[in-house]
Amino acid sequence: PVSGKAHASIHLPARGPARAIPESAAVISPRRTFAIISHPDAGKTTLTEKLLYVGGAIHLAGEVKARGQTRRARSDWMKIEQQRGISVTSSVMTFEKGGITFNLLDTPGHEDFSEDTYRTLTAVDSAVMVIDAAKGIEPQTRKLFEVCRLRNVPIITFVNKVDREGRPVFELLDEIAEILQLDVCPMSWPIGMGGTFQGILDLTTNRLHRPEGDSRTYQGKVEENPDLPPEIAEEIELAQGGYASFDGDAYRAGDLTPVYFGSALKDFGPAELIAALAAHAPPPRPQPADPAPIDPSAKEVTGFVFKVQANMDPQHRDRIAFMRLCSGVFKRGMKLTPTGHGKPIAVHSPILFFAQDREIADEAYPGDIIGIPNHGTLRVGDTLSERADIRFTGLPNFAPEILRRVVLKDPTKTKQLRKALDDMAEEGVTQVFYPEIGSNWIIGVVGQLQLEVLLSRLDAEYKVAAGLEPAPFETARWVSAADPADLKGFTDLNRSAMARDRDGNPVFLAKSAWEVGYIADRYAKVKFAATRER
Ligand code: GDP
Repeated sequence: PVSGKAHASIHLPARGPARAIPESAAVISPRRTFAIISHPDAGKTTLTEKLLYVGGAIHLAGEVKARGQTRRARSDWMKIEQQRGISVTSSVMTFEKGGITFNLLDTPGHEDFSEDTYRTLTAVDSAVMVIDAAKGIEPQTRKLFEVCRLRNVPIITFVNKVDREGRPVFELLDEIAEILQLDVCPMSWPIGMGGTFQGILDLTTNRLHRPEGDSRTYQGKVEENPDLPPEIAEEIELAQGGYASFDGDAYRAGDLTPVYFGSALKDFGPAELIAALAAHAPPPRPQPADPAPIDPSAKEVTGFVFKVQANMDPQHRDRIAFMRLCSGVFKRGMKLTPTGHGKPIAVHSPILFFAQDREIADEAYPGDIIGIPNHGTLRVGDTLSERADIRFTGLPNFAPEILRRVVLKDPTKTKQLRKALDDMAEEGVTQVFYPEIGSNWIIGVVGQLQLEVLLSRLDAEYKVAAGLEPAPFETARWVSAADPADLKGFTDLNRSAMARDRDGNPVFLAKSAWEVGYIADRYAKVKFAATRER
C-alpha cells in the first residue's frame, strides 16, 4: 500500500531506517523478473503504469510519466532527456501481488537504443512484448526480440490498442509467427476493434470482458459464455483449430508465445498479463557461468552487474551498479568480491527499487535487483560473489552500428579524454576502440542518441571539449581463432584495420558489412563475432 514514484532517481539516499523484515520472512515469495519490450509509441509506458496500478504499487493513473518528469527536471547533465522528452536511463520497479514479487526492469523506450537496453534483457527471466494492433511488429520490437531469442527468454505478447482500428487479428497472429519464427497461441480474442469494439473474450474461461460507460473502459463487467456474432464465433473456432494450443513448457523454452489482446489505456489486459506472468513465466533460472552454471538455490550469494548509472549530479563521482542477484540470500552489510579484480567490498547501503521509492534493503533474493553505490570500482559485466572462483558469462557487447573518430579540441586534455571514454565504456554508454596504428580513438555505438549522450557528458562532466568525425569504418567485429598463428597471420596483414577494445581484445574495423563477409570468406579459420561475451 504505497504511493509514489516508479522511476528510481540516482541521488544517493541518506542512510535511512532499514525496512523492517520480520524473521518469518525466511519464506521467500516467488520472483518474476521481467521487462517490457516494444517499439516507441506502442504503449509501454501506459502498460507499465497499469501493471503497477493492478499490482497495487501506484494509485493514480498518470503517475509514471508525471514522476518521470519530476525526475527529469532534476537531471542536469542529461539535457537530452529534457530536449527530447525521453528517458535515457533504465529503472527497476518492484511490486507484490498474490504472494509473488514482480521485478519489472524498464528499458529505454527510444528508437535509438543503447547497449543498456540490450544488457537489461540479460537480467530478466521473461519479457512482455507490446505490439500496436494497427502496426504489428515494428523494427525495434524485432531487434529487442532477437536479443531475447539469443538467451531463450520467453515472451508473452500483448497486442495493444484494440479500442482503435487495427489490422485483422489473423494477419497480426500470422505476422508474429512468421517474423519471429514462433508458435503463437491466442489466449484472448478481441470482439471487434475501434468503433465496433465490444470487449475481450478470454478463450480459456469463455468470459467476455465488456467496456462500460462513456470512457468505454473495463470496470469489471463480465459476461459468461456470451452469444457471439456468428462471424466472430467462426473466426475463433478457426483460430483454435489453426494455431498451437497453450503449452507452458514450449513457452518457457522460448518456442511459443501466448498472445493477449487488449487496450492498456482502457484497462483491458493488464490484470490478465499479471496473472499470466504469475502462472506461467519462469522463476529465476540457472545463470550461465564459468566453470558451471549457477543455480538460484545455491547457498552462496552471487550476482552480476548489468548496468552502471552515473550520478545525475556531475559533481558527484558516485555511481550505482545494478546487480541481478542470481543465488543465495543477500543480507545488508555482506562482503562480496568482484571476480578478477579487487578486494571484497562490504555492501552497506544496497538499494532495492520498490515502485514507491528506493529503500535500503535488508535482504534480497535470487531474481531481485540491488543498486550498489560505488565510486567506479564496479563495471558492467562484473560478477560479485561470496566466492571468488566463478564468473557469469553471457553479457554481450554488441557490434556497433555507428563508428566515429573522437577529435580533441584541446590537446592537453588527452588524459581526461581517455578516462572519460574508459568510464563511459564501463557504463555501457559507448564502446571505445584504440587503433593499432594512429592516435585517433574511435568510439562505437548502436544508436545515434548515444553520440549525443557522449558529447554532452564529455562537456558537462569531464570538461573536455571534443568533436566527432566520420571514421573510415562502419562496423566492428571481435576476432579470434583456435590457432593463435591464424589470428596473428590475419592481424599482421590487416594492421591498419585492427584495434583493441577497452579490455585489450583484438577488434577488426570494417569499412562495410560487405567487407566483413568478404574478409570472413578469405580467412576461414578466423572467427568474426558481432557480439563479445564478457
Ligand atoms: P510508449 O512510447 O511505448 O511508452 O507508449 P505510451 O504508453 O507513451 O503510449 C503512446 C501513445 O499511445 C499515448 O498517446 C497513449 O495514450 C496511447 N495509448 C497507449 N495505449 C493505448 C491503448 O490501449 N489505446 C489507445 N487508443 N491509445 C493508447
